[in-house]
Amino acid sequence: MPGASTRVAVALGSNSGDRLANLRFGAESLVGLFSEFRCSRVFETEPRYVYNQARFLNACCTGRTDISAEELLGVMQQIERRAGRRHGGLRYGPRPLDLDLLLHGDQVIADPHLTVPHPRMRDRGFVLIPLAELASDWPVPGLPGSPVPTIGELAAAVSAEGVVLTRHELPCG
Ligand code: ADP
Ligand code: MG
Repeated sequence: MPGASTRVAVALGSNSGDRLANLRFGAESLVGLFSEFRCSRVFETEPRYVYNQARFLNACCTGRTDISAEELLGVMQQIERRAGRRHGGLRYGPRPLDLDLLLHGDQVIADPHLTVPHPRMRDRGFVLIPLAELASDWPVPGLPGSPVPTIGELAAAVSAEGVVLTRHELPCG
């Protein structure tokens, strides 16, 4: 999508099946939707919220697109399903592929079906640490107070416990 205007960040996660293959499938499925598409390194992370499940592999991707946030979420959910994800399971439970829309330009959307910036990204080391590799100077709108914090500032404030760099690489890394 050459000349696309809106900067977008997506988080990828997997903790079932072949986790690396699932992340690669996710990145390969997204690449055609963006220009300037880039992937972070891959991190292995302790599960949050639901603890008795396997560790995740997590990474983030950034790029530019003209696709709206709503349409992008729909495409991302199709990709999750193609990776074998069945919606309706345990919230925060095991999944072959989780794709979260983190940032879509400077938009703030407050619908439970689509909340942007992603409402839980600001306390997730497994999101902010990989994303800071690609987008540390991007502002995160919609938080109370001013000035608007950057990804790098939020990443510096979050706990890095349980977020471990791996040697795995994604095709766009
Ligand atoms: P999480 O990604 O926080 O671990 P889930 O993937 O289980 O949780 O949540 C899926 C639900 O979250 C979907 O129904 C989707 O509509 C909703 N959702 C709201 N905002 C977003 C977003 N920015 N990105 C992805 N899903 C979102
Ligand atoms: Mg999700």
